[in-house]
Amino acid sequence: MKTKEDIYQSEYKKLKSFSEVLNPRIAGSSTRFWDTPAIKSRLYELEGDSEGYIKGSDGFKSLALIPSVEEAIAKISGDFEKYKIKRLKQGFAEPEKMTPEMKKELEKLKAQLDVYKEEEQVLKKWLKERKEKTERLRQPLRGGLVQSGRLSGGELVELDGQIIETCPACGLKIISDPDSIYCGMDVITYRRLAKTWYAEYCKTMGIGKKPKKPPLPEWPQDAVNHLSQKHLQSKK
Ligand SMILES: [Zn+2]
Repeated sequence: MKTKEDIYQSEYKKLKSFSEVLNPRIAGSSTRFWDTPAIKSRLYELEGDSEGYIKGSDGFKSLALIPSVEEAIAKISGDFEKYKIKRLKQGFAEPEKMTPEMKKELEKLKAQLDVYKEEEQVLKKWLKERKEKTERLRQPLRGGLVQSGRLSGGELVELDGQIIETCPACGLKIISDPDSIYCGMDVITYRRLAKTWYAEYCKTMGIGKKPKKPPLPEWPQDAVNHLSQKHLQSKK
């Protein structure tokens, strides 16, 4: 008969080799592509909502994978307690060990739980890495004031990595990015600053020269802060 370690180890190895999270490069068409929604969806299958439940497509709630295995493990332990009482009632000494069947089931469940928990850790790590990467890419003004914009539906939504919105008071496009020193400035003023900044920047360019970014321009004294209370209330 297989020992306890054997059952656990062989089950663990088997489950781990099937895991698409722990073996992300398994060949074959069934392999999931781990983009952010896929990562979140697998995490949901594993953890469920705040109470450990997942909602199926039929609308019914059921335990997520990790809580359901935890519950099965708790059930076996409960069964063992019942088994002890039964043996006592039958006039036998209280058994110290589980029956081989119970033990086997328990070891298999423990292996399953460990693989699920490893998946959970890996998925969380992937999510964190992706979030950090996105934040790095969106760092405002990282490349300077080069007027590199992004449009959505014909409207400017990002400029040099800064979030752009419409001023609720006057309707101008403004920088509304709390991470930018120009938060509250309208884009027209910003573009004026950028033009001067970029001209300075170009002067540092030349063959064999490493271009040097000039310091970020300061707020012009007369420029309106569109997010100031004074401005927001002025046009109402
Ligand atoms: Zn305004």
